[in-house]
Amino acid sequence: MSGPVDASDGLVGGGRVATIEVREGRTARIGAMDVLRVLPTKGRRTVGAWCFVDLMSPEDIDNPPPLEVGPHPHIGLSTVTWLFSGSALHSDSLGTEQLIRPGQLNLMSAGQGIAHAELGVDAGPAHDTEGVMGAQMWLAQTDATRHGPSGFVHIADVPRVESGEAVVTVLVGEHGGETSPAATDHPTVGLDVHLNRSTRIEIRPDFEYGVVPIDRPISVDGVIGEPGSLVLVPIGHESLALDARSDRARMMIVGGAPLDSRIQMWWNFVARSRDEITAAWRDWRDHNDDRFGPVPSELARIEAPVPPWVEV
Ligand code: MN
Repeated sequence: MSGPVDASDGLVGGGRVATIEVREGRTARIGAMDVLRVLPTKGRRTVGAWCFVDLMSPEDIDNPPPLEVGPHPHIGLSTVTWLFSGSALHSDSLGTEQLIRPGQLNLMSAGQGIAHAELGVDAGPAHDTEGVMGAQMWLAQTDATRHGPSGFVHIADVPRVESGEAVVTVLVGEHGGETSPAATDHPTVGLDVHLNRSTRIEIRPDFEYGVVPIDRPISVDGVIGEPGSLVLVPIGHESLALDARSDRARMMIVGGAPLDSRIQMWWNFVARSRDEITAAWRDWRDHNDDRFGPVPSELARIEAPVPPWVEV
């Protein structure tokens, strides 16, 4: 089946789309770095369990500012870090210090609380030093894991599969018979696709998807998304026709089973209620090391703003 899903089946609604739709991203600022935020977007918080997709997007692409994000907390989400260029040092309150380079994946699950820092580093002449570019994405954790312990894994070899005229790197989940070692608690897929002209890729009809063009416009079943936009694909499709329009193009594809609970997101926290977020905000403000712990980093700690619903 492809095309619109019957709205009467209860799977459409709540901000979900019945046909393929394009949403524009917006520029946001993290430290000295501009990012393109494609999710959340207007009227849409999640694609599967994906609740946050940022592309590092410096204004001056030839001379990007250094990546320096000091210690800050998370709850209730897993971060997926995937670089296009440059190298970065990840440090967290589990004591992890891990260098990440293009082609490698960092998956950090916050559970009830973690803190981390990210620092762009010069990894030497064998690696490009053109500045850190890449994607930082979050997955909302489910009730089964979001109150549990935090964790971090670095995956040096991410599986890759040829799929027609595309080379697909499987960051999360399964595609074309290849499964990522990155474990998630909800049916999820995350792909980095290098497309040569056009191809048709198989997708799961029980998943919803977002296609994120990175460097060139992409046609998704005839709907064109520009870099910096999000092409939303509703459940019900068994394949997608991807067309780089007589060129090579790179895109991220995120997808998964729609979440069955509505998430609350504020600052670096993902929860189900404001009370949960307020408690996490207070624990970070009060340096509750039982929850978030110190981070081995020289960078300055990032203080949380006051949630707008909290009276101080
Ligand atoms: Mn973070």
